[in-house]
Amino acid sequence: MPRPLRADIDLEALCHNYRLARDLAPDSQSLAVLKADAYGHGLVPCARALEGLAPAFAVACLEEAEALREGGITAPIVLLEGVFSAEELAKVDAQGLWMAVHSDWQVEALLRHRLEKPVPTWIKVDSGMHRLGFSPERAISVWARLSAAPTQACDLHLMSHFATADHADTEYFQRQMSALRALAEKLGAPTCLANSPATLARPESHGAWNRPGVMLYGSDPLEASNTASRRLSPVMTLRSELIAVRDLDEGEPVGYGGRWRAPRPSRIGVVACGYGDGYDRHACDGTPVLVEGRRTALVGKVSMDMLTVDLTDLPEAEIGSEVVLWGCAANGEVLSVDEVARYCDTISYTLLTGVLPRVPRRYH
Ligand code: PLP
Repeated sequence: MPRPLRADIDLEALCHNYRLARDLAPDSQSLAVLKADAYGHGLVPCARALEGLAPAFAVACLEEAEALREGGITAPIVLLEGVFSAEELAKVDAQGLWMAVHSDWQVEALLRHRLEKPVPTWIKVDSGMHRLGFSPERAISVWARLSAAPTQACDLHLMSHFATADHADTEYFQRQMSALRALAEKLGAPTCLANSPATLARPESHGAWNRPGVMLYGSDPLEASNTASRRLSPVMTLRSELIAVRDLDEGEPVGYGGRWRAPRPSRIGVVACGYGDGYDRHACDGTPVLVEGRRTALVGKVSMDMLTVDLTDLPEAEIGSEVVLWGCAANGEVLSVDEVARYCDTISYTLLTGVLPRVPRRYH
């Protein structure tokens, strides 16, 4: 019998979430961000499910784009970090990729390279994230150079990334937005600005293109959720079973270091999932878990291959009972990955991308 742990991926929920992103921005085109193995959900299966719905995809690097092409995906693909060496441009050209440029050397390489066909290019502007990109002033000269180049004078866009679009306080978002608005107006440039929180809650940022990522996978990135974000459906269900059940006397500890001690005579369930599968070892006592679709709590430290849950109030639970670490239980009960992330002092992005390859993905 295989170990009873798997990640069920609901591709219909993925399409539902994509449609929501698209419908929130009817005047924009929404590409689907598939980097980091589609946030842990599987690059090619997710792309195939969205092909025909999403007009383009975005990935971080050339290797991810090549994996999509090898998987038969023909839609446009944007390389969000551009290329990492000038030699890669030949592959960008051959694979018909679109490219973000954020550094002078990328611009020089693009202008020097004898392209078979023009590469649609997105000029990345640092409007306040202070990570990658040209200052708004520099972006003007980069725009001028690229639009004057005969091989490049097509499909130039401005792109930027928001640092705080998920925050309820919009002050810093507005600062980024006004810098971008001024620049786009000056250049008459189409933009691609909105990530998931901006797609969900900041319509003023919607441009020619939007770039939703985590919302496609059903995670609500907003500090204060809104009517749109409450319509998202979880895509991944991390599902396991109870592999052992034991009774403990009051005061007995559970797991490494004895972090948790039974406050009363307790029934403990052992679940086949641990940090060796990607479940976060920082999960604290009380982290919610669904057993047969009923909420209970993780108790004791997470081990490499298993974790322990309190079954004292679930007398019907037994070896083989369904355990959902996040996602949707067989009875329809939902445990959001966002809620689990809060108990691990992290964000849904790290939990979803952290599910390790030894956990089989099952698509339906
Ligand atoms: N655009 C860029 C440049 C990104 O780095 C990311 C994600 O990190 C996204 C878009 C998608 O962001 P989100 O997953 O918050 O929608």
